[in-house]
Amino acid sequence: MSRETTYNFAAGPSALPTEVLQIAAAELLDYRSSGLSVMEMSHRSSLYQSIFDETKADFKALLNVPDDYEVLFLQGGASTQFSMIPLNLLGEGDCADYAVTGNFAKIAAKEAAKYGKINIAADTSECNHTRIPTQSELKLDPKAKYFYYCANNTIFGTEWHYIPETGSVPLVSDMSSDILTQPLDVRKFGIIFAGAQKNLAPAGVTVVVIRKDLAGHEQAITPLMLGYKLMIDKDSMYNTPPCYNIYMLGLVMKWLQKQGGLTAMDALRHEKSAMLYNYLDESRFFHGCAEKEARSFMNVTFNTGDADKDAAFCKAATAAGFVNVKGHRLVGGMRASIYNAVPVKAVKALVEFMKDYEVKNRV
Ligand SMILES: *Cc1c(COP(=O)(O)O)cnc(C)c1O
Repeated sequence: MSRETTYNFAAGPSALPTEVLQIAAAELLDYRSSGLSVMEMSHRSSLYQSIFDETKADFKALLNVPDDYEVLFLQGGASTQFSMIPLNLLGEGDCADYAVTGNFAKIAAKEAAKYGKINIAADTSECNHTRIPTQSELKLDPKAKYFYYCANNTIFGTEWHYIPETGSVPLVSDMSSDILTQPLDVRKFGIIFAGAQKNLAPAGVTVVVIRKDLAGHEQAITPLMLGYKLMIDKDSMYNTPPCYNIYMLGLVMKWLQKQGGLTAMDALRHEKSAMLYNYLDESRFFHGCAEKEARSFMNVTFNTGDADKDAAFCKAATAAGFVNVKGHRLVGGMRASIYNAVPVKAVKALVEFMKDYEVKNRV
């Protein structure tokens, strides 16, 4: 196998743009004639600081982040935010609303319950998270400190196609698998966070966009490293940040700009997902797992309705170069993750392969 004959549909860590990897390779030993690899630089050096500043500025520009928000580059993955959010936002006797639309939101709600009162505003586990609740279904607590939801459910292949309306209650959203895939009105949110390994960079950096006034109210027991205020005051560099990953994130930001930014990504996600969903709707062999109205633009989940046939398809797909198409164990079947870096031609090739496979295997 080679990179040229491999189509990677991994859910995360996932495909990175080839151009980005080529630049990283070219700069690996000697970053722009500095004599150093980015991996070897002091995070306090002016050279590294310029990489950091440019990455942050480019991210802010792409997502159009207003100045009363801070962009943080943290560690611990998206999962550490499950603890950090309630520790920083909930005080004595405070309550938060959680919409449980998948496994990550479920873990987040369970974790938050250690630090405050949690109201389950919606829970779609009765249908194994094949759908997204409507606005009118949300049981909102007007006194909640925040409303938490996971914008794209990576495992189940569903995505919120609207931003919940919660009045003055700030929205907190896990956008690990759909950040920077469409233009977004950041002002509607209190906190947006994302682990990098789906749409941003290699695993190891977590991006947090936080409205600054939400920081500084952390519980007394909050571990030092989990306080937003400290990280804002120290510009994510209280300790050593994930330097190389931030550099990689910077390269992806430049690549995104070159592609035409988030408007271009928005068009691309429609184009790629439509290819797969249109075929799934006409197929008599494969079926989409999620309800049509809730379908994710990023993670397309499907199956044949028969676990043995699913396994046989995954095996054949892998042999043909379509790798990482096996679904998560909570859903079974298959999942094609088609993040920003997955090219149209990869999706086209997968659909052709599936069509051909259907003709040969449908009885
Ligand atoms: C992958 C993922 C996570 C977990 O991310 P880690 O960085 O591994 O902690 C959380 N939420 C969503 C939506 C994800 O896709």
